Amino acid sequence: MEELKVAPIRNGTVIDHITAGQALNVLKILGVNENTIGSTVVVAMHVFSKKDPSGWKDVVKVEDRELSEEIVNKIALISPNATIVIIRDYYVAEKYTVNIGDHVKGLAKCSNPNCITNVGEPIEPEFDVISRDPPMLRCMYCERCMTNISDNLR
Ligand code: ZN
Repeated sequence: MEELKVAPIRNGTVIDHITAGQALNVLKILGVNENTIGSTVVVAMHVFSKKDPSGWKDVVKVEDRELSEEIVNKIALISPNATIVIIRDYYVAEKYTVNIGDHVKGLAKCSNPNCITNVGEPIEPEFDVISRDPPMLRCMYCERCMTNISDNLR
């Protein structure tokens, strides 16, 4: 099968090697919807990829936009092997793989409604990363483990 070919972008960000099936969650993290979209966004789902262990990947390209650290860290939570490629004037200015780290603070909420972080106390949710791929977080306060992280991003 041929590699997917998409016209190069002048400025913007390519999020490559997204875990197959997660592109729409990446768009949610980016805040892209019919009201906010102002530049071209290209979404490719279920693309053949030799490099990815499953054989498939998703790719998202956003023109005229670079991503904040917070957004990159959220992408790491749902797609631990994603690569961020920053394009400036048609050249790759920066390229790196996201890094979920060992500890996550503030990016997601605990999935336990009775957790102290969900009952109106001014406590920021914190998690230990107990698995990277697939990502699994354990709440530091109530010890609930969660894998459905995309549903619990803040
Ligand atoms: Zn909790």
